Amino acid sequence: MPWNSLMDRMMKELHVNGNTIGDIEEVLKRVPIHPRIVPAIKSAYALGCDLRVVSDANVFFIETILKHLGIRDCFSVINTNPGYVDEEGRLQILPYVDFQTSTHGCNLCPPNMCKGLIIEGIQDSMPKEGNKRMIYLGDGSGDFCPSLKLREGDFVMPRKDFPAWNLINGNRTLVKAAVHEWTDGEELEHILLQLINTITIEENKLLSVECKFHTMSKPAHRALPQALPVPY
Ligand SMILES: [Zn+2]
Repeated sequence: MPWNSLMDRMMKELHVNGNTIGDIEEVLKRVPIHPRIVPAIKSAYALGCDLRVVSDANVFFIETILKHLGIRDCFSVINTNPGYVDEEGRLQILPYVDFQTSTHGCNLCPPNMCKGLIIEGIQDSMPKEGNKRMIYLGDGSGDFCPSLKLREGDFVMPRKDFPAWNLINGNRTLVKAAVHEWTDGEELEHILLQLINTITIEENKLLSVECKFHTMSKPAHRALPQALPVPY
């Protein structure tokens, strides 16, 4: 059973056993998080990054946790499995891709979601001229496929000793992005902000080269022979 279907089944069991949606919310709010993760996300957002969630969890879990941590507005898009509370008060979790009727066609990923396809969709939607770069963070085996879609100039940050890290290290020649591993929230914050800084410096350099070129090209333009006035 895919993880997502298992979670839906568990929500059914919890409901049958008398646990309310409020009980589930309270547990989600208690999920432990390293104290540096939230500041790292807030800093990345403040530095102008477009932050997106790509997750095989579900929209109810993610929205509840992000709102509780006060960082929901830092994210522009949440790509995840849909979920809703039905009229009986039970959380129904649905697959991102309805694999009973269709397939995403990727054999690296679970049947309900290929994160690689989501990353390709984001790449296609990015403006071509901006040369935008991606930093992808993940830990699960489902984060390997999207890591393979990243391009040269992008970064992947797998959590050390977790499935994504093992798969990336076992297939380094297939990964075009630069790999930066991390172990805890403190290291995550440090590396993430360093990468954002590197990208910003390189973008500014590119911008100043473009400006220089622009200024240099002006006198050359002025030196072009002027069109002769046409005599009446
Ligand atoms: Zn995939």
